[in-house]
Amino acid sequence: MSRSAELYARSSAVTPGGVSSPVRRYEPNPVFIESGSGCRMTDADGREYIDLCMAYGPLVTGHAHPKVMDAVREQLSKGTVYGAPSETELKLIERISKEVPCADMVRLSNSGTEATMHAIRVARGFTGRDNIVKMNGGFHGAHDAALVQAGSGSNAGVPSSKGVLADTAKHTHTVEYNDAQALSDLLEKDDDIACVIMEPVLGNVGVVPPKDGYLWDVRRITKEHDVVLIFDEVITGFRVSSGGAQKKYGVTPDMTTMAKIIGGGFPAGAFMGRRDIMENVAPQGPVYVAGTFAGNPVSAAAGLAQIDVMCSDGNYATLDRRSDRLVRSIRDTMADAGVRGCVNSVGSMFCIFYGIDEVTNATQATQTDRAMGDRLFRYMLEHGVYVPPSALEDDFLSIAHTDEDVAQLEEAFKGFFSEVKE
Ligand SMILES: *Cc1c(COP(=O)(O)O)cnc(C)c1O
Repeated sequence: MSRSAELYARSSAVTPGGVSSPVRRYEPNPVFIESGSGCRMTDADGREYIDLCMAYGPLVTGHAHPKVMDAVREQLSKGTVYGAPSETELKLIERISKEVPCADMVRLSNSGTEATMHAIRVARGFTGRDNIVKMNGGFHGAHDAALVQAGSGSNAGVPSSKGVLADTAKHTHTVEYNDAQALSDLLEKDDDIACVIMEPVLGNVGVVPPKDGYLWDVRRITKEHDVVLIFDEVITGFRVSSGGAQKKYGVTPDMTTMAKIIGGGFPAGAFMGRRDIMENVAPQGPVYVAGTFAGNPVSAAAGLAQIDVMCSDGNYATLDRRSDRLVRSIRDTMADAGVRGCVNSVGSMFCIFYGIDEVTNATQATQTDRAMGDRLFRYMLEHGVYVPPSALEDDFLSIAHTDEDVAQLEEAFKGFFSEVKE
């Protein structure tokens, strides 16, 4: 029995499904990770992997980047959490405010889930309206207002998890991503909508980029109806550019949520936006949000160091160039092998969809041939590459993936597709 299998047996006895978050489980058992360094992880049985999952997004500078580790060590020597403000968290807030176009003011939290939960509350408090709109396939963390899927007939949503009240879900409406007309029709019909919350690039059904002009249309439509536009940039923030997707595409929302990269490998989140909206947040305003660990200096030091690294030495350009090279190689390899599918990418986030020629929304994304995704995962795991275990998760590159690592990845994908062809 492998060490991972042993650990999983122990784990399954004491935590549901043997994992701390559902996506981490797969058959017969997930590999348990012992350590990570750069673009590589080593499991409990001593097997090494090139990591293409990168903890689902946070590690844009790789595992244990020396500058991030130094910043953390320095902070640790001064304590871990104070329950009072510190200059470390202020520096992160100032940095985010400087880089992100919509961020007149920023409030830190502990996770993306908290950030979106708070942002939605702020939008409701600011507008005095009850309903919210999300995109089909959009993910905004695991809280009640966000664990909702499209209902049949009316726009009112239904719970996507047991334990979420139908009474809560009915306030969350869902429209298809990349369909500006559907959003316009919905806002025309319902004058009790506080906000539209959306990933500017869908990133939780694989990667689905916005069509030309779509984000502009969403901006115009929400403005016409005085609805708060929230970009959930938990994945795209400090990944697709230093100012997130809003800077890349030149569309400024009213509010934004971030997490993942801004914690530098530690738990962190943030919501931010226009001054007149953010002034509603307690203690300045009447919308209550709070957190013992919000803005904790260890996460802030790590996040700030990671952002500093990314914003220097042309690192975004390097990252995008290497990612483009890998994506083009995978496309060519698939075509050569005669495997039907498409590879969607935005910078360093990408996803392979099998058995479908184009994916522009979540409905198409879920038509992907998941069995092929599963086969890829297993092949890669055996051949020393750790891709996300689910077909509808994103692959992520980091600046720790060198040109040689990318070449090694290209070979691994070639190996898989030649096996599939036979
Ligand atoms: C990961 C994610 C979240 C949730 O963030 P957590 O830190 O896991 O709570 C929210 N929104 C998006 C777009 C995400 O990808």
